[in-house]
Amino acid sequence: MYINENFIKLPQSYLFSKVAAKLREYKEAHPDADLIRMDIGDVTLPIAPCVIDAMHKAVDDMASPSTFHGYGPEQGYPFLRDAIAKHDYQDRGIDIHAEDIFISDGAKSDLGNLGDIYSQKSIIAVADPGYPVYVDASVIDGRGGELLPDGRWSRIMYLECNPDNGFKPNVPQKAVDVVFLCSPCNPTGTVFTRDELKEWVEYARKNRTLIIFDSAYEAFVQDKDIPKSIYEIEGAKEVAIEIRSFSKTAGFTGLRCGYTVVPSELVGYDREGNSYPLRQLWNRRQCTKFNGASYVIQRGAEALYTPEGREAVKKNIDVYLSNARYIKDQLEKAGFEVYGGENSPYVWARLRGENDSWALFQKLLDEAQLSSTPGIGFGECGAGYIRLTGFNSPENTRKAMERLGKVNLNTSVAGEEGSGSMNDLKAIKALDDLQVLDDITKAMEI
Ligand SMILES: *Cc1c(COP(=O)(O)O)cnc(C)c1O
Repeated sequence: MYINENFIKLPQSYLFSKVAAKLREYKEAHPDADLIRMDIGDVTLPIAPCVIDAMHKAVDDMASPSTFHGYGPEQGYPFLRDAIAKHDYQDRGIDIHAEDIFISDGAKSDLGNLGDIYSQKSIIAVADPGYPVYVDASVIDGRGGELLPDGRWSRIMYLECNPDNGFKPNVPQKAVDVVFLCSPCNPTGTVFTRDELKEWVEYARKNRTLIIFDSAYEAFVQDKDIPKSIYEIEGAKEVAIEIRSFSKTAGFTGLRCGYTVVPSELVGYDREGNSYPLRQLWNRRQCTKFNGASYVIQRGAEALYTPEGREAVKKNIDVYLSNARYIKDQLEKAGFEVYGGENSPYVWARLRGENDSWALFQKLLDEAQLSSTPGIGFGECGAGYIRLTGFNSPENTRKAMERLGKVNLNTSVAGEEGSGSMNDLKAIKALDDLQVLDDITKAMEI
């Protein structure tokens, strides 16, 4: 047999292993240093007690013949689909029904799997910087074209984000088939306003574009004027799939549960111009390749919609949000250019005059003993920026920012790499010689 050669084309993502290697190197040289992790891309607070109780009870259900659950519906159990439709949509005035909701084992799976339902020839657009899954999954499916010397793919449209557009992708001049939008955004922490989303929905309606709206961080939106769901925009049900996750909302990164909304109004087209409801295609895809999320986990997710569950989620989110806000404020005081940090656990920052994100990473490590994620790992437009997260304890967050306040940040540092992800490719060579600890790498997954 011949392999899917797209896997050969795909360069390894060395961002997180390189960060891990650099931290290890630093710890070896400074064994007593009190390193504070501001690069954490995983939640740290435990699961709410009411969710734990619901899962315990669901485990007990499995022990007796009358309450045992075997294969569940591929689309998810009605108890969870109903709770989502009611609380996340209908109670907020959005007309989404249980039949539109497909329970999954997480957003990342669905982001990749959705590629099964649109043409292999589809032109994809992504924000740069962006969550790497959108590009890598598209490349594996054969939608990348060729890898160019600048580290970009020839058939993918990159929507450049920078200070001019406030790190929010603009609607492109040309038509694309599929666009991935993320709000609140990982890695930049930026959120779309209602007017900005309206422009996207208009664009999609005009060009028959499918919007895949990744709102994994929806629960972090506090501002009443910022849409939590793309379906708050009129006409969005005809152009958008929305993907959500209990991972960042409720600490389910290790439990695995999310959902994808495919409204009945949403259609795609064949070559003759005939339209087909995407919900039917997605349903067929799931029934063929997926046997449903775990019963126990779905019972746990259901408990998030009880008053106790909602209160517990709110408490955790408030901790992360106040950390992020504090980071944002302190970085601004220290003279950084800052995005995010509001309605998001992520803060995206650059030191004025600094164009090398690995140099900035190293400077903060050496001088303040804090770790960050170099923005260049999320795309060319991330050069010079770093991502910090609110996923640490309030104590550590404060300590890290106090240190930052005392550091002289004006000393220029020798750039190790210039800019561009090709430099990341160069770094791969050096990395191959390093033994990178698997467990550190795992802990640093996005
Ligand atoms: C974490 C994350 C996901 C993946 O979430 P899971 O449900 O844990 O698979 C998807 N999109 C973005 C932007 C994320 O940051």
